Amino acid sequence: MTDLDDSLSSGAGAAAPDLLAPVHVFRDWRVTDAGLCSPRTDTVWETRTVRAHCRPRTADDFVRERHEAPGSACNCGIHGVYAFSPEFSKVDYQGVSGAVTVWGHVEAHRHGVRAEYARVEVLGFYARWTRRQKDAVRDLADRLEIDLVDLHDVEAAAHEYATPMPEVLIPREPARAPRLSLAPTRSRARLVIVGP
Ligand SMILES: [Zn+2]
Repeated sequence: MTDLDDSLSSGAGAAAPDLLAPVHVFRDWRVTDAGLCSPRTDTVWETRTVRAHCRPRTADDFVRERHEAPGSACNCGIHGVYAFSPEFSKVDYQGVSGAVTVWGHVEAHRHGVRAEYARVEVLGFYARWTRRQKDAVRDLADRLEIDLVDLHDVEAAAHEYATPMPEVLIPREPARAPRLSLAPTRSRARLVIVGP
């Protein structure tokens, strides 16, 4: 069975359109001496555009067959969520949040996606950060040529770069599914999104 068959039987209930433009989602990072880091994997974003690769981390991961990211039965791919939250920037002293455009192979889940490609479009600047955090985020944005806006304007700004995920392509998930989980479930749709 191909991924397409799978998405038709368990996904959004509608076939993906032939051509879907890049969509925007939101995510968090940590700004460390190494740069812009994924909080979940510690992967450093050396450039504003990144491509996901599946890197086994746990014993379970090593049991799976090698595959391209995002794997259907895996947790790999670049994670992003549909709903913006400024909280991470406020509670984690190295936290920064922003919007990315995603494309390539994309797994759409109820609350977000796991994507093959992502480009950081805009980062949120929080007025109450320490001077050190402000300087670090400014330097990063400058170096990677990423736009900066006030933290509370990120959601509005994201629309300037790409559209949100079309509602019709967002799968419904069982009520018991943990919020924000992007782990393998039956309720997902596999999409192919053309690059920008
Ligand atoms: Zn994987």
